[in-house]
Amino acid sequence: MRNVDIKVAPTVSENEAPRRFSKPPNSVRRLSKRTAQTGLIFLGSSAAIQVPSFHCTCRNCNDARANTKHRRTRASIALVGSETILIDATPDIEFQLEREAIRQVDRIFLTHWHFDHVWGFAALGEPSHLAKWRRIETYLPCQLTYHFDQELEWMQDRVSLHPIKPGDKFRLPDATWEVVKTTHTDHSVGFIVESTRKFAYLVDGVVPPRQTVERLRNLDFIILEATVDKLVPREGEKWFNFSLEQAVEFWRQVGTPECILTHLSCHSYKKGKLLAGLTHSQRAKFEEENLGLKFAHDGMRVEL
Ligand SMILES: [Zn+2]
Ligand SMILES: [Zn+2]
Ligand SMILES: [Zn+2]
Repeated sequence: MRNVDIKVAPTVSENEAPRRFSKPPNSVRRLSKRTAQTGLIFLGSSAAIQVPSFHCTCRNCNDARANTKHRRTRASIALVGSETILIDATPDIEFQLEREAIRQVDRIFLTHWHFDHVWGFAALGEPSHLAKWRRIETYLPCQLTYHFDQELEWMQDRVSLHPIKPGDKFRLPDATWEVVKTTHTDHSVGFIVESTRKFAYLVDGVVPPRQTVERLRNLDFIILEATVDKLVPREGEKWFNFSLEQAVEFWRQVGTPECILTHLSCHSYKKGKLLAGLTHSQRAKFEEENLGLKFAHDGMRVEL
């Protein structure tokens, strides 16, 4: 384990006036050069199951089989600027990094220890060694560092672990990062990231604790999850993932101008059963009816 005093790292870069990314391929080319221009890429946008889900033949899964643009891999984002930072490392990470031509990872912030958010981490071990990367600066809730000792011990010389807790702030070259608690698992966290634009990433989780909600002021946009489109739990069943309706309601309470929804299974849940959720066109209509709201898709870009 190496100690790096990243809390007093170089100043945040001054970027151009905020605006949305233009469509790829131009932005792909610009981002892949590791320039000072910081952008956000949705590496994946599905929940714990991909879309299509191999075990399911509902209309949405069949649609995604026929229309490859509608496919979704598991949710994570990359911030690409003078360095490349990931939030979470999904089991789909190699496919995602290759698709976006991301050749090196400098830092990873981990939200919680569920397989769809961390089980791709080990896939970076060999590449970091072969390509002679600097150690991957890895930030995870302090209660979860034992996973590295037990399961990823062989990566110790390739990773610098930074145990984090809600309230921590880091000033990194392209943005400042603040850790906030989410309501999902005992130790799950989200992040508020401020570059030229300021956003929060609260995935996975339902309505967060009051201390977190108070930190969500003056955001340009918020990234929330909407794991299922409709949710009808079994009696006594507790959910710690948002339905679409719950996510939209929380967004309206926060009052952020824009909201991007990710971690989308594209299914609904009714008493133990997974059913087809909104179709692609119903999702587009939902966006039209809710100004400021966007559903993420794999490869979607936002300029920061
Ligand atoms: Zn998840
Ligand atoms: Zn399905
Ligand atoms: Zn989770």
